[in-house]
Amino acid sequence: MNLILMGLPGAGKGTQAEKIVDEFHIPHISTGDMFRAAIKDETQLGIKAKSFMDKGELVPDEVTIGIVRERIEKEDCIKGFLLDGFPRTVPQAEALDHMLNEMNRKIDFVIHIDVDKDILLQRLTGRRICKQCGATYHLIFNPPTSVGECDKCGGELYQRADDNEETVNTRLEVNIKQTKPLMDYYGSQDILRTINGEQEISNVFSDIEQLLGGLKR
Ligand SMILES: [Zn+2]
Repeated sequence: MNLILMGLPGAGKGTQAEKIVDEFHIPHISTGDMFRAAIKDETQLGIKAKSFMDKGELVPDEVTIGIVRERIEKEDCIKGFLLDGFPRTVPQAEALDHMLNEMNRKIDFVIHIDVDKDILLQRLTGRRICKQCGATYHLIFNPPTSVGECDKCGGELYQRADDNEETVNTRLEVNIKQTKPLMDYYGSQDILRTINGEQEISNVFSDIEQLLGGLKR
């Protein structure tokens, strides 16, 4: 069960990743965790990656792909894995295919959790924070009892600058543009599966379960 998880910020990728790990017992491999582990273990590639990161430079694909390979070759990935945040580009996807091919493996499904941009905007711009005590609220999911006022201390609620609509919208647009070629790539391989991410969390997961039910465990 070799999977890739895709979805825009706010689509609920993290929540679904946790559920997939619990249910199917495959490791969740996020790019960030993978880099941190390689650097901490001081693997050759980890040291290389760190040298680029320390200079504020992008880690070259060959290093990133090497780190992915090291991770996938670990014993806990024998039954499968859930990649998250990699690949980001078509060349990376091609390199991943090549690597898996050498290992006699392949990606079974690319799970795309799809949520309309306007809904994501609502989700991502709804956060409010208390000026006094730092408590966080969400206008839709966790609203304060009285508008603009903290339930705990009565402090004034505000919106962080990077939660404002323009910033969030730009972030989403950039993301959509970047992932489009990747979706096309996996779409043409007929392994892209779009899941409706606008449903209740449990229903999103039911759809994923149904999709994965056909794969060997
Ligand atoms: Zn407060």
